[in-house]
Amino acid sequence: MMEDFSIEALRCIVGERGVITDEADLAPFCTDWRGMFKGRARCAVLPRCTAEVAAVVRLCAAARVPIVPHGGNTGLSGGATPDASGEQVILSLSRMSAIRSLDVIGETMEVEAGCILQVAQEAAADAGLLLPITLAAEGSARIGGILSTNAGGTNVLRYGMARGRVLGLEVVTADGSIVSGLRQLRKDNAGYDWKQLFIGTEGTLGIITAAVLQLAPKSRQRVTALLAVPSADEALAVLRLARQAIGETLNAFELMSGPALELVARHVGLTTPLAPAPWYVLLEASSSLPSLRDAVEEMLADVLERGAASDGVIAESEKQERELWHLRESITEAEAREGRSIKHDVSVPIALIPAFLRVADEAVMNAFPLARINAFGHAGDGNIHYNVIIPPDADSQALNRLVHDLVVDHGGSISAEHGIGQYRVDELHRCRSAPELELARRIKLALDPAGLMNPGKVLPQTIVTG
Ligand SMILES: Cc1cc2nc3c(=O)[nH]c(=O)nc-3n(C[C@H](O)[C@H](O)[C@H](O)COP(=O)(O)OP(=O)(O)OC[C@H]3O[C@@H](n4cnc5c(N)ncnc54)[C@H](O)[C@@H]3O)c2cc1C
Repeated sequence: MMEDFSIEALRCIVGERGVITDEADLAPFCTDWRGMFKGRARCAVLPRCTAEVAAVVRLCAAARVPIVPHGGNTGLSGGATPDASGEQVILSLSRMSAIRSLDVIGETMEVEAGCILQVAQEAAADAGLLLPITLAAEGSARIGGILSTNAGGTNVLRYGMARGRVLGLEVVTADGSIVSGLRQLRKDNAGYDWKQLFIGTEGTLGIITAAVLQLAPKSRQRVTALLAVPSADEALAVLRLARQAIGETLNAFELMSGPALELVARHVGLTTPLAPAPWYVLLEASSSLPSLRDAVEEMLADVLERGAASDGVIAESEKQERELWHLRESITEAEAREGRSIKHDVSVPIALIPAFLRVADEAVMNAFPLARINAFGHAGDGNIHYNVIIPPDADSQALNRLVHDLVVDHGGSISAEHGIGQYRVDELHRCRSAPELELARRIKLALDPAGLMNPGKVLPQTIVTG
């Protein structure tokens, strides 16, 4: 039987300050970071502990009120933004931000979902360890959001996606049950690994309340280098040589097009220390062995001698390192200042990056002669941000379809790391096979039969309502 829902009942669970109903205070919860998506909500509720999350979910489930989980609101797919109905409740984990424990021997950390990524990184660093999830939004993104989106970032090449850091998980399921698997085990093959269902599913199957994360040893040496390369093919030749020479030390291998860095120079005022080139590679390696710098220098000399790169520079200080990374991290801001851009966060098998770029550039320029392509990304893991700057009246849906079809043709994914949210629901359904979508439907119905967990995100709501 459906029960009545009241704000008062929510306040009884989370306290007076734990429910936000005032329109002005609610507004930041109802729009995303970029201002692309806007919605309305009954209220935002901010529980203080897992038991309160479970009680809120039970209350909402009994009254059939949908829930939108909310972390740091830095997601780029509108996953944390409610729909326009004004019926949904936003459940923010921001008051659950404790680092519950840190084990220096086992190199693990148990942390609540609302903890800001940077706070968790700093706690690990204070203990002489590394939490190797790194992205430009780390000062705002929260662990629950990071895991729910299976975030990537610049360290994936060495440390994998966020999923790879999770040893244990605590969740509240759609019926309000608490399921705790907060084990610190690297080896645990006892039955289904159910935690994977909640990682990367953007709050559509349940609420993540805490996690045990695998940390890593902190390297004592770090080397950062920028290379000018004549083509994307040569960039992959550099990657191959780097993998052979210093493979296990390579944290990041970022590809940036010449036009991308021209935008940075124009709008942010930062320039590369190298001569203009069609492409650039920014690479970072780290190790505790003192020989790291010699090894990187040797590798760069080899790369230059073979002609895979035309020029290169190694940062001589932390300041220079930051300057090189600043070039890479300023591309998005520069692109935003240039005009309207349509973003494609795609991945293809690494070896196919040059072929994909060639075919996509030609197809986009044929269909949209006024377009300008701004391609850059985490090439070491096959992830390209294939962004296209187009005039305001250009058909963005046609552009999305064109690019995504080519991605699929190259065996790629239409979302490498930003997730589906509400932004790419239709495209996911166009691009994924029927058996894969059917499996997703069965999982959703099994775990959230009433369709109250972040409805309309990742999967169309019709999957539940028929
Ligand atoms: C400048 C900038 C740079 C970025 N760079 C990268 C990058 O390099 N790589 C990358 O992968 N992403 C990147 N992002 C995207 C974003 O930072 C990540 O998606 C991040 O993981 C979102 O975390 P959040 O806490 O802000 O989540 P939110 O935006 O609040 O939520 C994201 C999704 O997770 C769900 N959710 C949140 N918390 C929970 C929970 N506790 N339980 C269940 N569901 C939950 C929400 O409903 C939503 O669907 C970037 C964003 C910005 C603004």
